Amino acid sequence: MRASFRLGRVAGVPIGVNWSVLVIFVLIAWALSASLFPRSYPGHSAFAYWLAGLAAAVVFFLGLLAHEVAHAVIAKRNGIEVEDITLWLFGGVSKLKGEARDPGAELRIAGIGPLVSLLIGIFFGVIALLVSLATGRGLLVGALSWLAGINVLLAIFNVLPAAPLDGGRLLRAVVWRATGDRTKASVVAARAGWGLGIVLIAVGIWQFFRGAGVGGLWLALIGWFLIGAAGAEERQARMGSALRGVRVADVMTPQPQTASGEMTVADFVDHYLFAYRHSALPLTEDGHPVGLVTLDRVRGIPADRRESTTLGEVSCRAGELVLASPDEQLTELLPRLSQCADGRALVVSDQRLVGIVSPSDISRAVQRGSMREQMTGGRGS
Ligand SMILES: [Zn+2]
Repeated sequence: MRASFRLGRVAGVPIGVNWSVLVIFVLIAWALSASLFPRSYPGHSAFAYWLAGLAAAVVFFLGLLAHEVAHAVIAKRNGIEVEDITLWLFGGVSKLKGEARDPGAELRIAGIGPLVSLLIGIFFGVIALLVSLATGRGLLVGALSWLAGINVLLAIFNVLPAAPLDGGRLLRAVVWRATGDRTKASVVAARAGWGLGIVLIAVGIWQFFRGAGVGGLWLALIGWFLIGAAGAEERQARMGSALRGVRVADVMTPQPQTASGEMTVADFVDHYLFAYRHSALPLTEDGHPVGLVTLDRVRGIPADRRESTTLGEVSCRAGELVLASPDEQLTELLPRLSQCADGRALVVSDQRLVGIVSPSDISRAVQRGSMREQMTGGRGS
């Protein structure tokens, strides 16, 4: 899921929000203000209920953010860059650029999030207790208690041992440490995620028919999401295993044809297009990569503008390019591949372009890798 808008940076990490958060925000604020608070703490004005509901919903999302920021900070401390944090329908996601190097790092990065949620829950629980001792049970205590409960619940749900939940990462770290096999550990965690997804769907449907309404459907929806995400994790783990030991130089197309960014689109179409066998063209200046044009982007320029448009103007900019070094492991490059260049990376040595890696290079390498695994009778290590 993508961020629909940016909120700024926390601890150097860009924070984004997907529009789907608004749905949950409104749902929570509405459930608290219109139903839970008036039933449990009668006698206040509608304004007071809405104020309490909105404030509790805002603080709840700040808690989610704190959970993700904690993951990001510990990831950075363990040498993993964090691309961004996005809040969406099912909570928050910290997108890490790379994987933990050892089970210990995995354990720390995954464990800190639920721990922070638990501490936030305990914090609000203590405040709620103090306020209730001072003023008795009222609407404020109700909002504080709800925040305490929901954060503890969040911590508990997240440590369920099933990928892609934090608990799935903890399970993976434990199996990884016990067996020394990261792929096996990932597959175990992913299968557990699949199992939990099935259970949540079953419980959700059962609750729905027993009259729980939206709550049951919501649970089933989370289950459905877990199954999809767990499947993706298992595929990724198997791909990582098939590509183990494969370097970028092993799969790249060496010394690709290049062009200057000054060339017009018309010139390219007239003189190069038909002789050109690939669907992306790196742009260079004195051998340094400065851009990448895909044929789709060239095709998007209307015929009457081709004379006046240069390749440089339709290319991915230098800042959007994905660069790799020939000796780098292919598995380390995969998470960095981005949309702009259609999943391509330019291979650079001494700042000069020496090759290009395309999605078809990668899928060929995966096929060869899995054949090798089958023929050697196992996953090797
Ligand atoms: Zn988490």
